Amino acid sequence: MAKKKGRVFSGARPTGRQHLGNYLGAIKNYVALQDEYQCIYCIVDLHALTTMESTHDLRDNTYEMTLDWLAAGIRPEETIIFIQSHVPEVTELHTILSMVVGLGKLTDLPTFKEKAREQPHNINYGLVGYPVLMAADITLYKAELVPVGVDQAPHLEFSRELVRSFNFRFKTDVLIEPQMKSTEVLKVLGTDGQHKMSKSLNNHIELAATPEETTQRVMTMVTDPQRKLRSDPGNPDICNVFSMHKIFSDAEEIEMVNIECRRAGIGCVDCKQLFAKNLNDHLEPFRVRRTDLADDPELVWDTLEDGAARAKHIAEQTMVEVRAAVGLP
Ligand code: SF4
Repeated sequence: MAKKKGRVFSGARPTGRQHLGNYLGAIKNYVALQDEYQCIYCIVDLHALTTMESTHDLRDNTYEMTLDWLAAGIRPEETIIFIQSHVPEVTELHTILSMVVGLGKLTDLPTFKEKAREQPHNINYGLVGYPVLMAADITLYKAELVPVGVDQAPHLEFSRELVRSFNFRFKTDVLIEPQMKSTEVLKVLGTDGQHKMSKSLNNHIELAATPEETTQRVMTMVTDPQRKLRSDPGNPDICNVFSMHKIFSDAEEIEMVNIECRRAGIGCVDCKQLFAKNLNDHLEPFRVRRTDLADDPELVWDTLEDGAARAKHIAEQTMVEVRAAVGLP
């Protein structure tokens, strides 16, 4: 195996079965990064607790998400994939890091203010400390690179500042300042054509849905709102179905839709059916792998347990160095 360039860390909340937005916005990139980097992908269950009303589905959601990741091409033999809380060293590092950041800085962060607005009945301590826990996640595993889109760049900048503060205060270089691995994060619109694809808005298309369910969902997609009749010319530039064609259809089909839509040569029903077919073809290998993997109900948990053991090995070493640097007896 070729030597990897460096260590990448990324975390995602356990949100259950993944949808097209998750795939295009993160998973596809996770899979690609494995070719060049030693990747650590963490299911951040502790982060999830900060906004959760109920933990009832946490286990199922973790299982389903992991199954999707594996079926999509995450390779656990080379990539570490694990559950955040299975390596409790992260909470110790979080506590230590919390001593080198001012409370005002945390409550001033736009993300905290946004969450506080979203859940005024539950402004818990975890929400305030969220970026510190995130910094602990990254630095515990000595990750050099974190894949982030432009909108998440301030979070990573916070982690970088925190590392500098820690290393300066304790006159050490134990913690590595992570670099941003800039990625083009696609903003995938949901079937409503207006909002980002999300389960909570029920505008999503699940990767693991059957071909029939997928086609049904695609047929509900909102198109060019000006195109009321089949005989009206449409504008593919403002149509979400066309955006999807550009990802899942071949060049000839994209050109055909682009031309025919504008002169009402193709109707939206036919256009969506063509997209649904191409999407189903694209997802077929994923579905076959997912079904195979699901045959062994222990596989997901064994994979996560093995990942946690490998992650813990790195974490323990880091914490030995951190405790020494801080001067804890
Ligand atoms: Fe959108 Fe296709 Fe209808 Fe044109 S024909 S408006 S691209 S769904």
